[in-house]
Formats: sequence, structure tokens, C-alpha cells
Amino acid sequence: MEILKYSEEHRIFRDVIRKFFEKEVTPYVDEWEEAGIVPKSIWRKMGEQGFLCMDLPEEYGSVGADFLYSVILVEELSRTNHTGLATPLHSDIVVPYISSYASEELKKRYLPGCVSGEIITAVAMTEPNTGSDLAAIKTSAVEDGNDVVINGQKTFISNGLNCDLVVLAVRDPSVENPYKGMDLFLVEAGTPGFEKGKKIKKVGWHSQDTAELFFTDCRVPKTNRLGEKGSGFIMLMEKLQQERLLCAIMGVTAAERMLEITIEYCKERTAFGRPISKFQNSQFKIVEMATEVKLGRTFVDKLIVEHMDGENIVVDVSLAKYWTTEMAMRVADRCVQLHGGYGYCEEYPIARAWRDARVMSIFAGTNEIMKTIAAKFMGL
Ligand SMILES: Cc1cc2nc3c(=O)[nH]c(=O)nc-3n(C[C@H](O)[C@H](O)[C@H](O)COP(=O)(O)OP(=O)(O)OC[C@H]3O[C@@H](n4cnc5c(N)ncnc54)[C@H](O)[C@@H]3O)c2cc1C
Repeated sequence: MEILKYSEEHRIFRDVIRKFFEKEVTPYVDEWEEAGIVPKSIWRKMGEQGFLCMDLPEEYGSVGADFLYSVILVEELSRTNHTGLATPLHSDIVVPYISSYASEELKKRYLPGCVSGEIITAVAMTEPNTGSDLAAIKTSAVEDGNDVVINGQKTFISNGLNCDLVVLAVRDPSVENPYKGMDLFLVEAGTPGFEKGKKIKKVGWHSQDTAELFFTDCRVPKTNRLGEKGSGFIMLMEKLQQERLLCAIMGVTAAERMLEITIEYCKERTAFGRPISKFQNSQFKIVEMATEVKLGRTFVDKLIVEHMDGENIVVDVSLAKYWTTEMAMRVADRCVQLHGGYGYCEEYPIARAWRDARVMSIFAGTNEIMKTIAAKFMGL
């Protein structure tokens, strides 16, 4: 039984985007991993084809597609076995802050560029001294006439170097309650006082330009605020459901791909005169992984349906984010083992997939934070 009801149009889209990635992305991935960044030109190519911010309405240049198109895109992107081209972060996590909370003037100014790929976005919450404890951020925005003056530092920002526009979490130091003093501002790259720092040298996600951002007396019009003054924390909480669901989709999808390539490898590789897939240990490991992947897939697909129906699934999404990403890490590790020494070699795709899987339990709220959210809602 298929939980997700894909239409003929969805299937055609899957075919089109798969071919696009095969031609425009996969051949360049090694080069991008080496460079530590993807070129902006691939964003514009994605935009030209209508593959960015597909849910936005026609008035901003898009087609108002449903969330299943985003799911398909994430799944097909995972086949390219790299994480640098973070268009799902842009289309399904950052731009929704603008489309949901920005003034009409800001929407008209920025959304068409987000759709065309001329504007690449990032969301900047984390700071050197605070990640999980979001309410403790220090980056300040002090009102001065029609502007706010921003000072502070952000770190671990995905698309940090490529970004043209940042959704920036700040606090008003005059408001004592941190939950009521937080705001989100749109800050354009190139605004005086906004500097991009160095790209962070990471264990994995090599083609992703994760970077530090600095704000020194950076003046931004008050009208660049998203939503009502003081509503930053609430907006972040409202949008985290989709962000964490996407992480869960990424977790399951990555596990599916790793299993697929490992099954292929085990059928081809021989030892003691037979394919290693014929050893009982290999079979048991593969069957155990297939079971976990199917459990994850069933859970996540159910959540996609509920999310699309507008249900509040904060608890289940927290459970799914933590379980699927840890499952992906378990699968990654077993798949490397089944590859033997080749699993530890760069030219085998499982090596990168294993390395890249590790961070999923850390970002978008660590898995420990997912569990604290669930525990709270369970009345513990
Ligand atoms: C590749 C990558 C991309 C990222 N992209 C972005 C981005 O685009 N934008 C952005 O804003 N941030 C981004 N981040 C930052 C990420 O969201 C944070 O790293 C994450 O929220 C954890 O914060 P921290 O690193 O400060 O860890 P800390 O908060 O210092 O946590 C350290 C450890 O303590 C645990 N811990 C903390 N509090 C609790 C608690 N209450 N109960 C139990 N355990 C706890 C954590 O689970 C963790 O194990 C990215 C990070 C990485 C690595």
C-alpha cells in the first residue's frame, strides 16, 4: 500500500528532476566537494527549470506546487550523493519564513529572486556560544530611528558564503524575557557591517559552504522585520516542524540509498568463491537494515500526509527526526563494514555517504533536544 498518493504529474516530475540531476549535478559533485562550495550557476539553472520554491504562488513566478514535489526533489537529490546544493534548505525551510511572515513589499522584492535562483537564502540562528539554547542568543538589534543596528556573530550557517539574503535571529537587549525579545530580520549580503567569515572545515558535507557571519553596527530598516515585533521565537517554533520533517525525510532517504548501493556491492564482490551476499551474516545485516528502513519510511510517509493536512505533529516529527537520523547512522556504519576496505575509500560512494550521515543527528535541533521536546509533551 502506498501511503503517499503520487499523481501522474508527480511521477513525471520525478523523472524530469532525476534526469536534470544526472546531467547537471552528479558529474560535477567531486569537483564541488574539492572546492568546498557549489557554483551559483547551478542555482540559476535550477531556477530556470522551476525547481526552486515550487510551493510559492504564480504571482512570485512559481507554480504553487504541493509538498510532495519537495519530497521528490529531496529524494532525487540524495541520489547525487552530496549535500552542497542545499536547495531544500532554501525552498522549504528559509523562504517559508519570508512567504509566511514578510510584508507584501518585502515579498515582492525578494520572492521572485528566490524562485529564479538569483537570490540564495540562509537562516542564521546559531552563535558560537549558543546552539541548542536558542533563547540565549546574544546578537542584538537596537532600534535607532527607522532602522535597527545589529551587532553579533553567527556560526555554522549553511549557504553561508553563497547566500544573498539571510533570515537573521536577533534579540532586543531592552526586553528581559528572551522568548519575547527575539526577532527575525532580513539582511542582504553586501549591507555595510555584514561580513561573511571563513568557511568551516567540516568532517563531511564538504561541498556545503557552512560559514561564520559577522554583524558590526549593521544598519537594517525596521521594515525588514518579519512578523510582529518580539515574535521571532514563535515564528521559529512554527516553522521547525517542516524543517525537522525534512531532516527525517533526508534520514530515511539516505538510508535507502546506502542500502541500495550496498546490496549491489554485496552481490558483485566475491570472497571464498562466492558473492559476499551469500554469507548468512551479510544477509542478516541487509535484512535487518531493510526492516529499519521500511519502518522509518512508513512512519515518515504518514507524517508527510499529516503535515500536508495541516496537522500539528510536533511530537511525532521530533521522534521521527531523532529516530530516522540515528537509523541512517546505524545503516551507514553497517554498509561500510559490508564494503570491507573499499568502504573506507573515497572512490566508493558509501564512504562519503557514511561521513555525511553523521551530522544529521546534530543540526536542526540535536537529537537530545528532540527527545526533550517529546518528553515535555508527554508530560514527563
Ligand atoms: C553542518 C551544519 C550545518 C548547520 N546549519 C545551520 C544553519 O544553517 N543555521 C543555523 O542557525 N545553525 C546551523 N547549524 C547549527 C546547529 O543547528 C547546531 O550545531 C545545533 O543546534 C547544536 O548546537 P551546538 O552546536 O551549539 O551544540 P550545543 O547546544 O552546545 O550542544 C552540545 C551537546 O549538548 C547537548 N545538549 C544541549 N542542551 C541539552 C539539553 N537541554 N538536554 C540534553 N542535552 C543537551 C546537545 O544535544 C549536544 O549533544 C548547523 C550545524 C552543522 C554542523
